[in-house]
Amino acid sequence: ATDFGIEEALKELGLNEINNGTSTGKDWFSNGDVIASYSPVDGELIGKVKTTTKEDYEKVISTAQKGFKKWRTMPAPQRGEVVRQFNDELRRLKEPLGKLVSYEMGKSYQEGLGEVQEMIDICDFAVGLSRQLHGLTMHSERPGHRMYEQYHPLGVVGIISAFNFPVAVWSWNTALAWVCGDACIWKGSEKTPMTSVACQNIAARVFSENGVPEGISCLITGDYKVGEFMTKDDRVPLISATGSIRMGKIVAQAVAARLGKSLLELGGNNAIIVTPDANIKNTVIGAVFGAVGTCGQRCTSTRRLIVHEDVYDKVKNAIVDAYKQIRIGNPLDENNHVGPLIDKDAVKNYLSALEKVEAEGGKILVEGGVLKGEGYESGCYVKPAIAEAENHFDIVQHETFGPVLYLLKYKGDLQNALGMQNGVKQGLSSAIMTNNLREAERFLSVEGSDCGIANVNIGTSGAEIGGAFGGEKETGGGRESGSDAWKIYMRRQTNTINYTTELPLAQGIKFDL
Ligand code: NAD
Repeated sequence: ATDFGIEEALKELGLNEINNGTSTGKDWFSNGDVIASYSPVDGELIGKVKTTTKEDYEKVISTAQKGFKKWRTMPAPQRGEVVRQFNDELRRLKEPLGKLVSYEMGKSYQEGLGEVQEMIDICDFAVGLSRQLHGLTMHSERPGHRMYEQYHPLGVVGIISAFNFPVAVWSWNTALAWVCGDACIWKGSEKTPMTSVACQNIAARVFSENGVPEGISCLITGDYKVGEFMTKDDRVPLISATGSIRMGKIVAQAVAARLGKSLLELGGNNAIIVTPDANIKNTVIGAVFGAVGTCGQRCTSTRRLIVHEDVYDKVKNAIVDAYKQIRIGNPLDENNHVGPLIDKDAVKNYLSALEKVEAEGGKILVEGGVLKGEGYESGCYVKPAIAEAENHFDIVQHETFGPVLYLLKYKGDLQNALGMQNGVKQGLSSAIMTNNLREAERFLSVEGSDCGIANVNIGTSGAEIGGAFGGEKETGGGRESGSDAWKIYMRRQTNTINYTTELPLAQGIKFDL
């Protein structure tokens, strides 16, 4: 690991052998169990983090509530200025943070840097947004009245994030919530606690230098039980949770039971439709990157390739050929395309998916398997696999969170492909490869893709922060990042002002006293 400058990166990010995982900003304290973070890259210990107890959490939430009362009165553009300075630090620390993301999560160094770039982009967006948190003015039906709406800060926002985007998802939420005037409490994934502490170190330093009240950026650490401190707490009006559908169903019910708001970003089962009019070369690039990038552990990874029978063999052969060129190995080495899975449980799930698809009658086209030997000591390196399958197979209906691509054939009209594409419970990302304008427009029409993201001639994976990100159906319905996603972090108020000497009632009702 030292070869790739990890020790240096940890130092630059202010990380120690044992770190506090509970922080309200300037104050760091944890009294819970210690969890260790091992790298899937080489199986080595990166560091340890002390978790958050219920008593610690009580301190965090009361500090956040107190801090919020001050922060909300600071003009939004001034809050934006603090986010701008936080972003300067992200730019300065992009390389060490990207390296740590790669080393702790296992994605390639380029993707680790890309993730930090997403943080930088959303902060830029948030700074501009801090001068645009505007509502509408409406014409009142009553004479001498003015009506308008305004957005006020919401309160304490709870952020729960997944291991696969250990830093970007936090920033997507927190950068917007901060300029909106909220205090944020983040529970990162227990699988990537070191990156969480690194991010909190940066925020805590910048906030403290700017005299921001304690409690605006808080970190709590641990597993789902620590997450539950927030989901069941009515002092947290909004929970933004990113992770599995299983988690989303539990979190949604806990938050709904107290009539809180939730923003859910859950699993996907993303497909690319390949029509007879597709550019096959681009299809192969999009599908292979979508299926094996981040070792198939993106919520937007390509899981299903739905190919028209006329081009099926051509596409199949080209993709199988492309898989032969994939280099698997240490993700910090830029010559490799694919790094490890996050841990051995993920390896088990991947192997079980391959068994299931065969048991249901699927045919393996590119063999999977766990890699052994020099460089693969962590036991988390697997071979990306392709299986011919049917859309109705149970395994195809579920998200396989690893590098397994299901190849499906459709016949006849595009309608049949759309039926397959939409014929799953998830609705995150989708794409069509075609040079036929009619097909592209049908795919985007009301009768087309039912996903939150629908692309033409680019694959399913990845996202640009300018657009609202999220999905339908079991993906949870939440939207984060660009467009008007900021509105969920604020409360909307409709105001009617009467500037006459009378009090006319609505709908012409007479009420003479
Ligand atoms: P996970 O559901 O196991 O865990 C996600 C987070 O939720 C963790 O921080 C975990 O501690 C917490 N958590 C779990 N149960 C909880 C509960 N009952 N109460 C409170 N918190 C709880 O997911 P994971 O394995 O870390 O991530 C992979 C999954 O995340 C995949 O399904 C992927 O598609 C999804 N994901 C979705 C998006 C999106 O934007 N739609 C983005 C990234 C990942």
